[in-house]
Amino acid sequence: MTDLNAVYTYVDEHAEEYIAQLQKMLNQPSIAAQGVGMTEMAAMVQQDMDALGFETEQYDTRGGFPVVYGEKAGKADKTLVFYDHYDVQPADPLDLWTSDPWSGEIRDGKIWARGVADNKGNIAARFAAIDAWQKIVGELPLNLKFIIEGEEEIGSMHLQNFIDDHNDLCQADACIWEFGGRDIDDRPQIHLGLKGICYVELRVSGARRDWHSSQATSIPNPAWRLVWALSTLKGPDDRILIPGFYDKVKAATEAELQALENLPDTEQILLDDAQIPGFINGLTGMELKLKDYFEPTCTISGLLSGYTEKGQKTVLPSKAMAKIDMRLVADQDPHEIYALLRKHLNDNGFTDIESELVGAGYPSRTSLDAPIARVVAETYEEVFGQEPVIYPTSSGSGPWYQLCDAFGIDAATAGVGNGYSQAHAPDENINVEDYILGIKHIVAIMDRFAQSEG
Ligand SMILES: [Zn+2]
Repeated sequence: MTDLNAVYTYVDEHAEEYIAQLQKMLNQPSIAAQGVGMTEMAAMVQQDMDALGFETEQYDTRGGFPVVYGEKAGKADKTLVFYDHYDVQPADPLDLWTSDPWSGEIRDGKIWARGVADNKGNIAARFAAIDAWQKIVGELPLNLKFIIEGEEEIGSMHLQNFIDDHNDLCQADACIWEFGGRDIDDRPQIHLGLKGICYVELRVSGARRDWHSSQATSIPNPAWRLVWALSTLKGPDDRILIPGFYDKVKAATEAELQALENLPDTEQILLDDAQIPGFINGLTGMELKLKDYFEPTCTISGLLSGYTEKGQKTVLPSKAMAKIDMRLVADQDPHEIYALLRKHLNDNGFTDIESELVGAGYPSRTSLDAPIARVVAETYEEVFGQEPVIYPTSSGSGPWYQLCDAFGIDAATAGVGNGYSQAHAPDENINVEDYILGIKHIVAIMDRFAQSEG
């Protein structure tokens, strides 16, 4: 048995040094959207991994910023991969920051900087955990890999090229995802997946130009065509009517139902915030949670046709368009869902409605029974002293399916953020205490996962 307390003590004694290492990363802007500091940041992350004795490489992504990859063998014949990103969001608007976004200033027990929560704090905590382990124990408890991309904040546009070119490097037994931390009630939280998306544009054309509406007796109206088509997609009971739409929806397991019971009750906060009297179908409690986390949606996100300005204009529009966003749950396939939608439109006589798939992302979900899910939960409780809240999915997005589900890899989140970290916004921050706890948490995860069954 490894004496984790000795490693924890080392972390405490070297807290200053580990904070300084994080600040060094925070001082280096790395804004993918603007191409600022990306080469420097990739080099820094690679050097930090080199210093830990990892074999590292920067892999070209065919058109995007490189993926910084590292691996090091350990004792157990098991591999844990950390997925992270070295890019951050732009810091704008600068005048809303209390201190320089690239300073990593420490104030009120917090570290303030762009990217400290999302996700340099996590990268630095993971490196620090490995360093402390090696200083006290020596050999790593299991094989470790890092896949640190440079385009997460701009949609991971070229990550799939890296995955296609280097399938072998992506293999692992489990993954720790890039984000994580505490919720608004300060309870540690774990996310076990992301929802997918199928985003579609529908367009209908009528006469060659807008017409005098007196001719509505004889000239077809594309706005009506579109509305009739849209009305076949969903019933007033909120049930989506595209045949086959729900076929691949995975039901919640016993354990997942229990996890839902444990989620914080945020109904009233949401009702107050939205200023609505109640939710669709009057749902509350477990029924609402089930719908939130285990059911797909079909949303009219945009609708455009004809005259919509002040007063009246009796016009018969020549064009109509709608944008439809469908949030998918495991195991729905965005391309299959798009095909089902197209077939449904055709079968209902709407062959004149043009459609285009403009966005597709697969849903991902790791089982609560997966060893990594159990390990992250148990170690959260041990290190943070609080039972974590487990979310079967997250509202966020990212290449989780591509890196994990596609390879049969279970994944969970573990990180140093909190409910008020303000990722992507001015005054992004983390608690110094959470950074140190986050380092210890990674130490415990490595130890426990190395010993876990399966
Ligand atoms: Zn982000």
